[in-house]
Amino acid sequence: LKWRNHKAVTLAAVYAASGLLTASVCAMIGSVLPDILECRGVIEHRTITHWPWLWLGGMFLFWTIYKTSGTSPVYFYFLMCACAGALLHVAEDALSNGGVPVFSPYGEKTGFGIYKTCSLGEELSTLGMVAIFSLFGWVRGYFDADHILQQLADAGSFVDRLLHG
Ligand SMILES: [Zn+2]
Repeated sequence: LKWRNHKAVTLAAVYAASGLLTASVCAMIGSVLPDILECRGVIEHRTITHWPWLWLGGMFLFWTIYKTSGTSPVYFYFLMCACAGALLHVAEDALSNGGVPVFSPYGEKTGFGIYKTCSLGEELSTLGMVAIFSLFGWVRGYFDADHILQQLADAGSFVDRLLHG
């Protein structure tokens, strides 16, 4: 997927699942990591940075630290959500024809072939997923004014703690 499509699908998916604006935005930022970390071809495309277990492990690690650390856990919350976003990136790539490595990071790639990367199918798949997730979030009341206002307030205090400890 293109970066903007990864961001859109990940933001919509995490918000539909959690209703948490801060977590969704952190995940959105993390959703471009698997491609950024390839450093423009230094690391072979869709290998170790697209290995789901790496991000699953990161999520678990930062969640554990987040739950047990007493001071400034906001950083670990951010890292945990970023890893979740990266994991979703891998899941989104897994829907393409190219697929991602499931077992060994440099091994055979598995893909569901729902869309072809950089095709009209990619754009339609993105629109479809964002629409479904948004509908799901809307049904759950995550687009109600009072919910959104609360989320904005939470996001504000998160940024404040991130910047000022
Ligand atoms: Zn990718």
